[in-house]
Amino acid sequence: MSHSFFGGIHPDDGKALSANMAIEVLPAPKQVVIPMSLHIGAPCSPLVNKGDYVKLGQKIGDVGAPVSAPIHASVSGTVVAVEPRPHPNGTNVMSIVIENDGLDTLDESVVSHLSENLSDSSVFVKLVREAGIVGMGGATFPTHFKISTGIGKVDTIIINAAECEPYITSDYRTLLEKPEEVISGIKLLMNAFGLSRAYLAVEANKMDAIKVLQDILSKQNSGIEIIVMKARYPQGSEKQLIQTVTGRQVPPGGLPADVGCVVINTYTAWSVNRAITEGMPAIDRVVTVSGPGIASPKNLRARIGTPIEYLIEAAGGFKPNVNKVLMGGPMMGNAQYDMSVPVIKGTNAITVLTTKESRDVENPTCIRCGKCISVCPMHLMPIYMYMYERRNDFEALNKYNLLDCMECGSCTYICPGRLNLVQSFRTGKAKLANERAKQQAAKA
Ligand code: SF4
Ligand code: SF4
Repeated sequence: MSHSFFGGIHPDDGKALSANMAIEVLPAPKQVVIPMSLHIGAPCSPLVNKGDYVKLGQKIGDVGAPVSAPIHASVSGTVVAVEPRPHPNGTNVMSIVIENDGLDTLDESVVSHLSENLSDSSVFVKLVREAGIVGMGGATFPTHFKISTGIGKVDTIIINAAECEPYITSDYRTLLEKPEEVISGIKLLMNAFGLSRAYLAVEANKMDAIKVLQDILSKQNSGIEIIVMKARYPQGSEKQLIQTVTGRQVPPGGLPADVGCVVINTYTAWSVNRAITEGMPAIDRVVTVSGPGIASPKNLRARIGTPIEYLIEAAGGFKPNVNKVLMGGPMMGNAQYDMSVPVIKGTNAITVLTTKESRDVENPTCIRCGKCISVCPMHLMPIYMYMYERRNDFEALNKYNLLDCMECGSCTYICPGRLNLVQSFRTGKAKLANERAKQQAAKA
């Protein structure tokens, strides 16, 4: 079963730089800086104070809001500050700074949950929540909320192993090196949803990982089917993946559950397995540090809260002519200007580009070629959205469905006029949000 989605592009994937680099454990730094916002949804409130001693895996932040996930200490040691610190999103966010004592003293809460009644979905959802698991592919949507709101509605589980963005190989290495653990996580999720089938969707540029998974699955009756997809960007976006795997189309503004689907990232499935079998919450993640501007690309398992400069140093540092450091890949990553910002739960990659890859020109000009329209997987009209964003025409931006743009960057990539379309759409969304706030304030 394999369908296709509209638009998309075939960028040079650059994955060869790090694909053969086995996951290395990066020693925890002397200090970790753990922001209270590591997910989409309500930020957590600190549960510890300056001077407190915390243990590895101890819950240090939480909030009662449904769309949120608790936060845990990624090292043991002493809290030396609870204060706003730079976050990869470009703002200052309340953070807990822990001086690492190097002992990794484990919190008493870190115990296996395998003896609990995991067939009771409320027990499972609570365990996933308490482990602080979120969409580790970058979306950071709390996984417990996805499960609890999907039970009864969802008939299809899709494990997202597309990893379609250039340079990133962290999920690929996880599949290759930890296939049993990923499969175990998928089975736990199937059990929670009460489903006997799941699809593991992998792009055809990961054939050795596919072979490893097929070998394991052929010896068991798991109900997990591997879907091999032709490599295309942005295949890993939820809506496009659902269409490729099932042929179902999520309506504009709709959710995967509206068409009976739930999409879980590979590393999230791995994290679910670890949380249930070992009781270890989301305290680290595999990060691909790569790109033409990195001396020695690597896949590193780094603790949450590790400053990204540690990872860059561990990957041999910068090559000459660095132009951009991105958290994430070159298509959807956020540019970083402060190398002290920490690894967060959604940090699947740090990508470093040089001036050679820069698409910046002095006078970007639209030549009305229409290529941006032909690649947009959301059937949008990027050229008009750009024009109306420049003119601050909010009515037209709504008419052209700016908010449906998932910022995949396909239009920017293909544009011969070198317009930074996706940046204009991010700005446009912020302007729309401001405008809405102004209108609401005027009504109040
Ligand atoms: S791809 Fe670029 S140049 Fe072509 S129509 Fe779109 S914005 Fe204009
Ligand atoms: S960035 Fe937005 S407008 Fe451009 S191709 Fe992607 S979804 Fe379409």
